[in-house]
Amino acid sequence: MNRPEPRRQPPPPLRLITIDLDDTVWPCAPVIAAAEQAQYAWLVASAPRLTARLGPDALREHRLALIAERPDIAHDVTAVRLESLRRLLAEHDYDPAHADEAMALFRDWRNRVEPYADAAPALRLLRERQPVVALTNGNAELHQTPLHGLFHHALTAADAGAAKPHPAMFEQAMAWAGARAAETLHVGDDPVRDVEAARRIGISAVWVNRTGLTWPEELPPPVLEVTDLHALVAWLDAAGDQPAAPEDSRAV
Ligand SMILES: [Mg+2]
Repeated sequence: MNRPEPRRQPPPPLRLITIDLDDTVWPCAPVIAAAEQAQYAWLVASAPRLTARLGPDALREHRLALIAERPDIAHDVTAVRLESLRRLLAEHDYDPAHADEAMALFRDWRNRVEPYADAAPALRLLRERQPVVALTNGNAELHQTPLHGLFHHALTAADAGAAKPHPAMFEQAMAWAGARAAETLHVGDDPVRDVEAARRIGISAVWVNRTGLTWPEELPPPVLEVTDLHALVAWLDAAGDQPAAPEDSRAV
């Protein structure tokens, strides 16, 4: 006799869903590439002595070296980019304050994300059920993106003072929502920074695997693997979880 597959259920009742951004609700690499390209073009025009010596790869290596040197800002990708540019501008006899202008340009492009087709419709359904909070290690400004208004709250690693897999961002989201770990579900694409990080503090986690990756064999499997956020909504619907709608209408 075949034993039925155990049904994996979300933790009832859910009072909070936290969702990663990069590669979970929009692809990350194309927008970073476009932002870096726009910023480099600005540097070519504004700091030619710098770009005569250093190409985009050298700028990346400079940032990586800075991350190793400055663990105090390593979690804050904006601070790292800004400090790296300041130093390089100064080294090439330019005013380091010009880095602010270069970063403003980068951030403008960084927000030009193109969400996956399922992201906005699924978020509209999810936000009716319980608070939905964005948790990102990146530096997109959610209110400047096409997904503005679809999350109740958003936290970045820079806000939290630590990047996932550190628990700070999860803990701050739970404190904001008044939810315990057992009442929270995290959704993200990174097996370690999202799924394992959430589970380590008692939060169930769904793995968003949009590109057919293999789950790392050294980690226990996630409670659910989905290829898009529609599948997450369907899973929650099937579980019959019907928590109260959020009491406030805050949106970011
Ligand atoms: Mg991600």
